[in-house]
Amino acid sequence: MQPVHKESLPDARGYFGPFGGRYVPETLMTAILDLTKVYTEAKADPEFQEAFRKNLTEFAGRPTMLTHAASLSRKIGGARIYLKREDLLHTGAHKINNAIGQTLLAKRMGKHRIIAETGAGQHGVATATACAREGLECIVYMGEEDMRRQEPNVYRMRLCGAEVRPVTSGQKTLKDAVNEAMRDWVANSRTTHYLLGSALGCHPFPMMVRDFQKVIGEETRRQILEAEGRLPDEIVACVGGGSNSIGIFYEFLQEPSVKLTGVEAGGRAIEPGQHAARFAGGRLGVLQGCRTLVLQNPDGQIELTHSVSAGLDYAAVGPEHAYYQSIGRIQYGYATDSEALNAFRMLASTEGIIPALESSHALAYAIKRAAELTPDALLCVNLSGRGDKDVQEAARVMAL
Ligand SMILES: *Cc1c(COP(=O)(O)O)cnc(C)c1O
Repeated sequence: MQPVHKESLPDARGYFGPFGGRYVPETLMTAILDLTKVYTEAKADPEFQEAFRKNLTEFAGRPTMLTHAASLSRKIGGARIYLKREDLLHTGAHKINNAIGQTLLAKRMGKHRIIAETGAGQHGVATATACAREGLECIVYMGEEDMRRQEPNVYRMRLCGAEVRPVTSGQKTLKDAVNEAMRDWVANSRTTHYLLGSALGCHPFPMMVRDFQKVIGEETRRQILEAEGRLPDEIVACVGGGSNSIGIFYEFLQEPSVKLTGVEAGGRAIEPGQHAARFAGGRLGVLQGCRTLVLQNPDGQIELTHSVSAGLDYAAVGPEHAYYQSIGRIQYGYATDSEALNAFRMLASTEGIIPALESSHALAYAIKRAAELTPDALLCVNLSGRGDKDVQEAARVMAL
């Protein structure tokens, strides 16, 4: 494992080693440089940070609890498992942390029009609520196919005053919605902020989203020290674009005794089109603004992806993850659809907590891992969201 110099990452051009950067049309460079400058100032401004913290507390519901999953741990008979309860946040997942941070930043830039992309609708809902609170105009691009599958979230966004624009190009899902949002941003960047939902895209987004999510790990450190008097042996989180995972990992990158494990969507199998495990099947490429591991065919065409959880279903992974994997600091595994569904059911029946299907991937790994460890070992799982949104889909694919 190489030493970690997290404070100097990314570099001024947005690189984490060979990953990251700004692969965007020339017409966006002014907006992106402006965003980088304003964010750098905001990051150092105690007033901005105070407003962010206040909103996290009063609106989002932070700090979230760290819950000892006693009966799950007992049932497995291995490590003591703790759950970081991002599922308890307003709108049901960690995404609200980032939505709050970026809406405050948009106001600081004097931009009153917000655009966002959404797949399953979780990021769209978080953005629409934050915009309603801050009095900002909100337009959410969503694939027509996703709108059909996630009707309640479409209604939630509209209820909060957002305009949901159907995207009819390509597969009519998340990747196509990102393309439409980028097109809008190119045309309207003077008045508009693009509120990107994960630790992805061009610099400064991966850095900024990480900074808005790192509160998860900071709280976890305090809480596990209070509960157990020491740091955990391992922290596990699911990886879609990579925001909840980098959010909990960041605080611990320079603690060599804490093993960090990201879990991707193994889908039906690690075969082209059947999964979204970029570390298992991806190659270096450029997608939607950054250089990272991408699922692609030998010609560089983006491969189709599949996961039972919409939030993990994306062809590229955040560049900071690609970097920490390349230096051996974070390890990545995957859980299949059926392993995630089993974990979903197991947490609900042992602890009375229904996790998001995304988070269930992290749980599936943790359940296996805990069994290999002894009861003096401490395992923390980031429960990135709640499963209310998933119960219908779960009922459809598995009979009780
Ligand atoms: C969106 C989402 C994810 C995946 O996104 P990351 O940026 O990788 O965190 C994971 N869990 C939940 C509950 C989500 O809504």
